[in-house]
Amino acid sequence: PAGEQVPSGDVRAEYEDLVEEVRKHRFAYYQEDAPIISDAEFDELYRRLETLEAMHPELVANDSPTQEVGGEVSAAFAAVEHLQRMYSLEDVFSLEELEAWIAKAEASVAKIGNGGNPPAWLTELKIDGLAVNLLYRDGVLVRAATRGDGTTGEDITHNVLTIKEIPQQLSGTGFPAEMEVRGEVFIPSKAFAEFNEALIEAGKAPLANPRNAAAGSLRQKDPAETAKRPLRMYVHGIGAREGLQTVSQSDSYRQLAEWGLPTSPYFEVLAGLQDVLDFIKRYGDKRHSLTHEIDGIVVKVDDFATQRALGYTSRVPRWAVAYKYPPEEVHTKLLDIAVNV
Ligand code: NAD
Repeated sequence: PAGEQVPSGDVRAEYEDLVEEVRKHRFAYYQEDAPIISDAEFDELYRRLETLEAMHPELVANDSPTQEVGGEVSAAFAAVEHLQRMYSLEDVFSLEELEAWIAKAEASVAKIGNGGNPPAWLTELKIDGLAVNLLYRDGVLVRAATRGDGTTGEDITHNVLTIKEIPQQLSGTGFPAEMEVRGEVFIPSKAFAEFNEALIEAGKAPLANPRNAAAGSLRQKDPAETAKRPLRMYVHGIGAREGLQTVSQSDSYRQLAEWGLPTSPYFEVLAGLQDVLDFIKRYGDKRHSLTHEIDGIVVKVDDFATQRALGYTSRVPRWAVAYKYPPEEVHTKLLDIAVNV
């Protein structure tokens, strides 16, 4: 590879430039909710950084962007320590990479045992929104936070309380003493288009895209402003839990839905690679006609005991992966919106 012929001083300089570049774009995206480049361009930069680190492991610093969950805590909000860390997701950008990832994960599961069974794969949509962490104590929502750097997030409780779909008090019985519910807050595509039309009619600047609009809406200083935005949420995970009896991701979605939390109607528990590929194809064909924007598909080991056995890196779970659809098609959709505006 080209890198091996380059003198190491040049490689270090290239590496440092790349780190700085990634940091700058993360700041614009997470802190200012105003990205300068497209996600596909960012993903390419990030990939280059990963490749350079793989070729030159001696360059990798502990605070490299590849070792951290992106995002910091803005001084505009109180800092909140998550009870259990929040992670990012490992990305794959082709079906071949996904196949290799699943084969490796299945081999790891086989080593652990799992009664000799391959894992079942909970497969769902990757919602292009903002992650939130909802803390429920005895069925009552006591706090809501952004992901932040994964350890510490921003307290956005007042803003989250304006989202009607998120129950302040769960319904039913048997609530755990403590439970962190993780999910994605987003603006549905149709509501986004309507909201932008209203902005334009009022002579105001339209919002750039649903993801940044959702993030910006949730990080308003005034909850009354957040209340005006058409925000929704779907649950996609559980953090710390005390007294929660569920044994798998899908079992948890069923239980959380019973308690009144919003879960996505689009997830499926699948037996193996072929079924996952079919799912990707099916949703790839109709992804622009879904109620919300997606930027890929997330595939997770369904069973909690197996998730625990596989564990986490410093940035991502080893039991889940995000497949990203090819960027040009995602872009067409964004461009359509821009043209309509
Ligand atoms: P990620 O968005 O690739 O994956 C992790 C996140 O996915 C989770 O935190 C969660 O919020 C979300 N998610 C959505 N649906 C989910 C589901 N069903 N299950 C689990 N999680 C789900 O990782 P990231 O570290 O948050 O950010 C990287 C993303 O942000 C990339 O898409 C990247 O392109 C974009 N980004 C863009 C810029 C830019 O300048 N354009 C800068 C930084 C990051």
